[in-house]
Amino acid sequence: MEHRIDRIKKQLHAQSYKLTPQREATVRVLLEHEADHLSAEDIYLLVKEKAPEIGLATVYRTLELLSELKIVDKINFGDGVSRYDLRKEGAEHFHHHLVCIECGSVEEIMEDLLGDVEKIIESQWGFQVQDHRLTFHGLCKVCQTATVKST
Ligand SMILES: [Zn+2]
Ligand SMILES: [Zn+2]
Repeated sequence: MEHRIDRIKKQLHAQSYKLTPQREATVRVLLEHEADHLSAEDIYLLVKEKAPEIGLATVYRTLELLSELKIVDKINFGDGVSRYDLRKEGAEHFHHHLVCIECGSVEEIMEDLLGDVEKIIESQWGFQVQDHRLTFHGLCKVCQTATVKST
């Protein structure tokens, strides 16, 4: 955890930003809940437990800054809520998501499945791809079994 905080601190410094205590509290919550895809409000409530003096606006600004610097990715799973997801260390692309339409669970795929698709886009459309988002909506394994049982 500490080395990741350190790394984020360096990423901020490289762009002339400081890791203020408020920013650090927000980053720690993101690291502790890495698998959770939290909304800004969720993050705010968790940050507040550690730093009660922090305001929602500060947390919002920190999240915006972190997304600008590509430390976090902002993502929307189609429910109108923006969620924040830490970019995995050393990842060149944003990981893919499998979202269950039944229970809302979110699985992550770290492997980049779109390398070939990007090549096609670059050669056929002359478009220089820098990143992509890929979210699959469907039924997770647990919900598939539940559906079979109830029919
Ligand atoms: Zn994710
Ligand atoms: Zn499910």
